[in-house]
Amino acid sequence: MDKNLIIPKYLFEEFSLKACLDDDYNSDDSYNWEEELLMEFQCEICMNYMFPPIKQCEIGHSYCQDCFGKVSSCPTCSSPKKDTRNFALEHIFEKLTFPCKYAEEGCLFQAKGPLVVSHQSDCSYKATACPLNSLKQCEWVGSKFNVGAHLKKSHDDLIFKNDFNVIISNFKCYSRTEKFCLVHAWGEIFYFSHVLTSGYFKAHIFRMTKFTNNDFKYAINFFKGDTQKKVISVEGPCKYRPTDLSSDFLPYFSWVVSYLAEFLDDDDCLHSSVQISIDN
Ligand SMILES: [Zn+2]
Ligand SMILES: [Zn+2]
Ligand SMILES: [Zn+2]
Ligand SMILES: [Zn+2]
Repeated sequence: MDKNLIIPKYLFEEFSLKACLDDDYNSDDSYNWEEELLMEFQCEICMNYMFPPIKQCEIGHSYCQDCFGKVSSCPTCSSPKKDTRNFALEHIFEKLTFPCKYAEEGCLFQAKGPLVVSHQSDCSYKATACPLNSLKQCEWVGSKFNVGAHLKKSHDDLIFKNDFNVIISNFKCYSRTEKFCLVHAWGEIFYFSHVLTSGYFKAHIFRMTKFTNNDFKYAINFFKGDTQKKVISVEGPCKYRPTDLSSDFLPYFSWVVSYLAEFLDDDDCLHSSVQISIDN
């Protein structure tokens, strides 16, 4: 008898076990191990997925950061919170594909954990406050897709509709409080504000509506006295910015007031215009 034909029993068992597993795997196409693993990431308090840093209680129960921050001890076992992290879960997080947490609102974005986290912070389906909430004490909250519709409906009085040419004049009258307006142009809504502060004339221009097939640019022109003679002209892209506009951190452009002073008219008005046009 050929010795080679004798198959050790343990090898046979190992082989058949593997065959069993393969069989199991192939026989059920709908089995989704990734989906099952995702369940391990579900925070038991809010049902959102946990993402790093994933902290835990003394025993090892984990919750999402938000919930972990709100409880004083573990809701499952009452043991104290600990400052250790669940690194094993954090490493798996990087390899699994997660849906965006605004999937129920309609977001179809899916990606590996870290990409989803960065997407979520700027997801268009995330509830966002009205951009004028602090300027106009507006309580509205909704997705970025609806910001434009909300502005048109509730802040209609602030919207300039003389298309894409806004005239601002006499900035001395505007003193030191920031003046702003919304401009409805090209089917989009833009935000324009200006302020005279510490010897500078500052201005901001942003696009506030999310949907657009075009890029836009602004042009601000200053005129000499009440003539049509342009003395200063600046141009730049109109960036999208739907969030809180009262912040001091908004990027802006500015001019030294003493420099602009020589262009005032007899009534101390500075004649200027703002244009928004499609950037081809
Ligand atoms: Zn949670
Ligand atoms: Zn616990
Ligand atoms: Zn999303
Ligand atoms: Zn509002």
